[in-house]
Amino acid sequence: MRHTVTHFCRHVKQKFSGGHAKAGGMAYGSRVCLTSKVRPESTSSAYAVSGAGELLQLLRDETPRTRAELAKLTGLARSTVGARVDALLATGLLAPSGEAASTGGRPPVRFAFNPEARVVVGADIGATHGRVALTDLSGRPICEIGESLDITDGPEIVLDWLVTTTHRVLTQAGREPRDLIGIGIGVPGPVEHSSGRPMRPPIMPGWDGYDVPAHVRRDFDVPVLVDNDVNIMALGEHAMAYPDVEHLLFVKVATGIGAGIISGGRLHRGAVGAAGDLGHVAAPHAPEVLCSCGNVGCLEAVASGPAISKALKGIDIVADSNSDIVALVRGGNIPASLAVRQAGRTIGEVLATCVSLLNPSVIVIGGSLAKAGESLIAGVREVVYGRSLPLATGVLQIVPATTGVQAGVIGAATMVIQHALTADRVDLAIAHSAS
Ligand SMILES: [Zn+2]
Repeated sequence: MRHTVTHFCRHVKQKFSGGHAKAGGMAYGSRVCLTSKVRPESTSSAYAVSGAGELLQLLRDETPRTRAELAKLTGLARSTVGARVDALLATGLLAPSGEAASTGGRPPVRFAFNPEARVVVGADIGATHGRVALTDLSGRPICEIGESLDITDGPEIVLDWLVTTTHRVLTQAGREPRDLIGIGIGVPGPVEHSSGRPMRPPIMPGWDGYDVPAHVRRDFDVPVLVDNDVNIMALGEHAMAYPDVEHLLFVKVATGIGAGIISGGRLHRGAVGAAGDLGHVAAPHAPEVLCSCGNVGCLEAVASGPAISKALKGIDIVADSNSDIVALVRGGNIPASLAVRQAGRTIGEVLATCVSLLNPSVIVIGGSLAKAGESLIAGVREVVYGRSLPLATGVLQIVPATTGVQAGVIGAATMVIQHALTADRVDLAIAHSAS
């Protein structure tokens, strides 16, 4: 039987009455508008508003601005800015936000991005837990439910739970399914991001090739995006803690080891979504330990939680789980601290190569073993700073993750927001609503 492990709900006051009904009634609510790649026919009126999406990007910092300020910032004619502001107001994505000081006459109205116009669902499915959050369009959680589940129950049972829980968070937040702009899902295994299908996931029996978006869209006719758990954690940590950092590497150290690569401010998935899968990189100087993938000497086989447990068992210390290891280190157990530090060094050997290849300015160490504190990070730092060139390490910080368990749901929601609010998709939505 499932039990709820997390549950909170923050009721959000609508900025303007009838706001969500208005937004829901617009063509912006149509899935077609957010996924179609067909550009609207060019007309003079279409031209006037076709840059509205670009204008919205500028306003997504939530700073209220007048039409005149926007004209000055963009270098556009006031009439063009006026048309684009009107188009954005009609979608609900922009809303009046007070008045600027008057320079004589009627004070000009300020406008700001309205993150409450629509909502997003971010779901983080782990091996033994599921967490579903409803967020606003800035990725701020409004309502969240976390429960225990078993990924080995298979996609039908787990995704039915996700759909039911999505209905529950919508109801609890007082929002309608038509307010939903999309659903993002993280799963603990490799995913072909373009199709949303897990690909030979080792700990997800029954999920290989399963069409996750199609299952969820039986209930919700919105874009459904799927990615692996490490990529969504990278997106969540980046959005919450390092929004201005352009080059960040997020490394999850737990039962498995993997990385999410933020480069140029964007998540890089590689050709098919396999970028950052560091767990099966050969660790330099590693003993020939057999890995679950069939190779020997993989990073995951020598520096993950189970590898540390095995090393400790060899010296008669029992630590059956990652949380047992963390408890031992925090309790001052010296052999456990040394074993974790050695795992950090081994991970650092692989990360030194990543630093030379990607030149990140921040490496974030997350995952359940990061809770062991300084032991793991000290090992990583020792090797990375020793093995990388000064030009790369001069600006490099290696730090523990800060977003904790919420990184996954916030990252999954961020993935959807980045997809849905691109300038092109906003323009298409406006074009459809006008036709
Ligand atoms: Zn392997």
